[in-house]
Amino acid sequence: MYEFISENAERSTLNAQSSTLNSALDVERWALDVRSQIVRSPENFAAFRRSLVRWHRDHGRDLPWRRTRDPYAILVSEFMLQQTQVATVIPYYNKWLRRFPDLALLANASENEVLRAWQGLGYYARARNLRVAAKTIMLRYGGKFPRAIDQMRQLSGIGKYTAHAVASFAFNQSVPIVEANTARVLTRLFNLRESTDSNTGRKKLWQHAASLLPKSDAATFNSALLDLGALICVARKPKCDVCPVKAFCLAKNPAALPVRKARPQTKQLVEVHALIVRSGRILLEQSRHRWRGMWILPPLQPDFLEQPNFRRPVYESVFPFTHHLVTLSVYRRPAPKRIAPGQQWFGSIEEIAMPSPHRRAIDALLDADFSVQHEQHESSGNGS
Ligand code: SF4
Repeated sequence: MYEFISENAERSTLNAQSSTLNSALDVERWALDVRSQIVRSPENFAAFRRSLVRWHRDHGRDLPWRRTRDPYAILVSEFMLQQTQVATVIPYYNKWLRRFPDLALLANASENEVLRAWQGLGYYARARNLRVAAKTIMLRYGGKFPRAIDQMRQLSGIGKYTAHAVASFAFNQSVPIVEANTARVLTRLFNLRESTDSNTGRKKLWQHAASLLPKSDAATFNSALLDLGALICVARKPKCDVCPVKAFCLAKNPAALPVRKARPQTKQLVEVHALIVRSGRILLEQSRHRWRGMWILPPLQPDFLEQPNFRRPVYESVFPFTHHLVTLSVYRRPAPKRIAPGQQWFGSIEEIAMPSPHRRAIDALLDADFSVQHEQHESSGNGS
């Protein structure tokens, strides 16, 4: 168990005794020793929690998923918040709960409906997992959301953090949470030097998070820790001068924490797709890979660009995808005599699930009245 030390108290003790030490290294070692020795009193935990929760009462974020204890709604928010900023999530969350207000409605929806509602948030596996989890809860638990963490963790897409977040925010169970914001705060509070990507680093973070947790009202405490990471203990320039728990913080160089493995370099990718329009309908293909289940412009073979007479693309855009920057190039192509398996003609794309880069491409091309041009082009027999 650790405790925190007031910075001022530590400084005065250091001033009084460091004169007996021989070198800067001695002083450094001794200071660390003092810290770890003083780290034993539970009152400091209580003082830390009080400072944090008091600050949160006045400055915490008012987020829509904090106004409910419905575990389903909280689960939706947690899935959406993975890899996505709060400001982006809020309108999606509100719209989602109007469209699928409970587990039963989500469990009965088609995959296309669910992906369509998720469209624009990216990382579509989250939407598929959410639907599968809803189906499992309906079948296995008669629609009653399980309270036990090990039961939650058997549901599709629910890992340790998500299960703990639902247990804490919906059921007020006294369990710790560690995600990007809280991990950053904890590494700084405890001056952790281990990489947060390593097993040891992760294990320590969960231990520290557990050590700070109050026995009651863990939901408020965990929300406060999240907000501290989001508003004060931010990644690049932590606002230590206004931090409510500065007196308890052991970080010497907070901006250098947390330590992480180097990120893989961004790779460039070019993806080539066809725009094929006939009689006011567009040909699309159901993706089996990155956007599984969603409709995309039919992919062209990689050797298409090596053909001598291909024309310029009618549309190009660049979008990020994990560690890639993908250039989407769209070429107009004539309608095939027979469409391939997984392909279908659509008169309207309004109700179908499409990844945003492909929907934007089609919107831009159809805005340019491309279908008319293309059909004229086709009828002139020049379909390169
Ligand atoms: Fe983060 Fe600075 Fe507060 Fe420490 S004092 S918790 S580094 S903001």
